[in-house]
Amino acid sequence: MSETSDSTETGGVDPEELTDEEWRERLTDEEYRVLRESGTEAKFSGEYVDHHPDDGEYRCRACGTVLFEAETKYESGCGWPAFYAAEEENVTTTIDTSHGMRRTEVRCANCDSHLGHVFDDGPEPTGKRFCINSVAMEYDDE
Ligand SMILES: [Zn+2]
Repeated sequence: MSETSDSTETGGVDPEELTDEEWRERLTDEEYRVLRESGTEAKFSGEYVDHHPDDGEYRCRACGTVLFEAETKYESGCGWPAFYAAEEENVTTTIDTSHGMRRTEVRCANCDSHLGHVFDDGPEPTGKRFCINSVAMEYDDE
């Protein structure tokens, strides 16, 4: 409700203006592979899988946009950080039919980086499970 859509938290950089080379400079190899090439980190490898703060939020690793509130994070046992709700206007979802599966891909609405997928087997109240790569996010405890 206090969201501002014109985020100035990107360090003055408009992610859409970045060249591929600039992305590679800003991100580690693993971050680049996940965020820009729709990769997936190894199961249970991510730094936020067992990370359950009471407060704070998770931002896009590439551009700093707030994606998830810590209070919507839950233990799904799937091997990646899971949330039952996203900051709706800050993520986009599209049908992804790669790898012979029909899944719904989740991307950052600001910089169009790949974050993970959303499934319909989450807990109440939404029934959603946002299954998100740790390297796509940065925890912010404020
Ligand atoms: Zn972003």
